Amino acid sequence: MTLPLHHPDEELLIGYASGQERAGKSLLVATHLAYCPDCRQRVASYEDLCGAWFEELPCPPHAGLDGLLDRMMAGLPAAAPVTAEAAPPRPAAAGPSSGRLVPEPLRSWLPEAIDTPTDDGTWREISRGVWLSGWERTLSGTRICLLRMAADAPVPAHRHTADELLLVLRGAFSDEYGRYALGDVAHYAGGTDHYARGASEEDCICLFLLDGDLIFLDEDGNPL
Ligand SMILES: [Zn+2]
Repeated sequence: MTLPLHHPDEELLIGYASGQERAGKSLLVATHLAYCPDCRQRVASYEDLCGAWFEELPCPPHAGLDGLLDRMMAGLPAAAPVTAEAAPPRPAAAGPSSGRLVPEPLRSWLPEAIDTPTDDGTWREISRGVWLSGWERTLSGTRICLLRMAADAPVPAHRHTADELLLVLRGAFSDEYGRYALGDVAHYAGGTDHYARGASEEDCICLFLLDGDLIFLDEDGNPL
């Protein structure tokens, strides 16, 4: 298995380690960790630091994530290089059709949708070769569903009002920053425009998290 190249940023990892991240993003981070020994190691370091910090300095009543981040970044060890021995365990294998190839904790959450064909009504086509799953959940304000892109199919130009995150569960896609394959995370801040396009022979399926609204744009970049 190839190791992920694109990781959650430090703020997300620390938020996850400290238990202060919102539930939807924590689900995405936890799933990425199943694929990524490097981030598992970093989270373990943050958890140690966080535990030590809380033992030494009881949390002031209004200390938020920002203060915690500053303190933790100051004492942060350098990332350890990923070694061949540290390869992640293979996600639990199952039969040929297999949402079960998705690791826990996400596996328990996922519907059958990941293994269903696009013409059975489970998927909603938003543009040619691009679908959103009918399955959708909201976790502490974060909308969670699956995004599916056929080979070379572009997601229509869009903008979002808050964070958008993608985690690749199958296949690969590309954007202006690179190519994302199994376990990779793409994180787009609110207000940014970006494109995405299927970049594997099989359909690319991603866990899709959205904090705000999704606004599709016309050819001139104006909201539709
Ligand atoms: Zn990682």
